Amino acid sequence: MKVKIRKGDVVEVISGSFEDKGKRGEVIKVSPKKSRVTVQGVSIRKKHQSQVQTQGRSMNPGIIEFEGSIDISNVMVVCPSCDEPTRVGIQRDEDGLPHRVCKRCEAKID
Ligand SMILES: [Zn+2]
Repeated sequence: MKVKIRKGDVVEVISGSFEDKGKRGEVIKVSPKKSRVTVQGVSIRKKHQSQVQTQGRSMNPGIIEFEGSIDISNVMVVCPSCDEPTRVGIQRDEDGLPHRVCKRCEAKID
């Protein structure tokens, strides 16, 4: 299956952990081979960081928060036109170029 989600899309979490369900955020990374996406503010993981030396600079120890990747099937693209999570279709325009459309309202997504 072709991945129709791109970096910069706003997606909504439609399944997965209770904590993240219903959350919306911008896609910051897509890994098509692993069928994973990383979404801003979703699936926050905390990592305890001990003091480390990086290129001569020392970083303070503490807790680092970062987004973990989630399965692509757990998110849906939010249509910028109807503001609903939707399935994405592909249509060709007059020039024969494929573009993504919302399956609810048929608005062009990009
Ligand atoms: Zn729509």
